[in-house]
Amino acid sequence: MHSENTHADLLLINGMLLTMDADDKQFNPGGAAIRGEQIIAVGPSRQLEANVQAKKVLDVTGCVIMPGLVNAHTHAAMTLFRGLADDLPLMDWLQNYIFPAEQNLTADMVYWGTMLACAEMILSGTTTFCDMYLFEHKVAEAARDAGIRALVGEVLYDFPSPHYGSIENGLKFTESLIEEWKGDPLVRVAVEPHAPYTCSPQLLLRCQALAERHGVPLITHLSENQNEVDEVLKNYGHRPVAHLENLGLLNSGLIADHCVALDDRDMELLSSRNVQVVHNPESNMKLASGIAPVCRLLQMGVNVGLGTDGCASNNDLDLFGEMDSCAKLHKVANMDSTALSARSTLKMAIQNGAKALGLGDRIGEVSPGKWADLIVVDFQKPHLVPLYEPTSQLVYACRGADVRHTIIHGRLVMEDRQLLSMDLNEVMDRARKFSQIIRPL
Ligand SMILES: [Zn+2]
Repeated sequence: MHSENTHADLLLINGMLLTMDADDKQFNPGGAAIRGEQIIAVGPSRQLEANVQAKKVLDVTGCVIMPGLVNAHTHAAMTLFRGLADDLPLMDWLQNYIFPAEQNLTADMVYWGTMLACAEMILSGTTTFCDMYLFEHKVAEAARDAGIRALVGEVLYDFPSPHYGSIENGLKFTESLIEEWKGDPLVRVAVEPHAPYTCSPQLLLRCQALAERHGVPLITHLSENQNEVDEVLKNYGHRPVAHLENLGLLNSGLIADHCVALDDRDMELLSSRNVQVVHNPESNMKLASGIAPVCRLLQMGVNVGLGTDGCASNNDLDLFGEMDSCAKLHKVANMDSTALSARSTLKMAIQNGAKALGLGDRIGEVSPGKWADLIVVDFQKPHLVPLYEPTSQLVYACRGADVRHTIIHGRLVMEDRQLLSMDLNEVMDRARKFSQIIRPL
């Protein structure tokens, strides 16, 4: 507490506060005070009530207050393809359904598809997402309009894009997007070459130079499955991770999505170069890509965040479900029920993701001075009673629909499950209309 009678915009009280700070402090009953975009005080409810004068007070009795979740890998607008084509071989799925659908994509479709994704994410407790897609300026606009934090970037590859055409335009577009959003409170822009099998070494190097020039992250899919490893080995004589090492791309500013098919040397490289890894367990399971060696990576000190990937391969953006799948997948993969704990999994979905996205010092805990990105989860539900250990409950029993309030950058964007930053019915109507264009009934 800075002083008596601190003024705040919003005060949450009477919850079980999981700060998730370095000491893992908890206050029960406790709360947090928010002014502007910042958390200004946390502590026991009694103390906050005595010392904080707030414009708005939310009594969250029976709820957990915690940092918002970070979806570290999405293709948000692919919500429009949710359930369009499932249970197919990967190449049939990609070439006969997803690529043709994407050829007809428009900026408008990306905007509304992303709004739908933002609605789903805010409603399920995600306060930050990291996106790669086409027409990414529309993703940036949708994130801003929805009031959600985002790291976005136009997907870049050697062949012509339905959005920008030639790669020269793609690089120019990315640079202008970086400049346009510089200093925005919610949205930042990254450079995002698609993958080592769709981007030439020259393109990867130009992407890295662009990212370095602007001090922004470089994001790519990496070693998603064995086919990719075989193809990169055939074309360049090295596995994908070693290929990027040879090009000088492996460093702490690289966010590598998937990292499923790894050998010992790949893991050593990712570890020694401090690459940020994002794990997408449900997508990897659904596309039968394999099981990323997440426990070994974590043991080797690699920072591993959690993502859902796009809705065509998941098919939802609920990080609570993703955490549950993640912990259980690695237990069975290792035939060891202690392999990945609820605690480690929750950390992946919050702090590790924040760190991967370069936001580790601003979000990921409910502490004074941090940006106010936090969620309130309602534990007064039959599937969440009784309560012995909140972390276990959050990972193994909670669902996104249990999130009651969502606050991002100090703004209440969902209150009592009502979205305050958009007209949800309009968003769902638009998505239904686009689905008739994507696959006429
Ligand atoms: Zn992806």
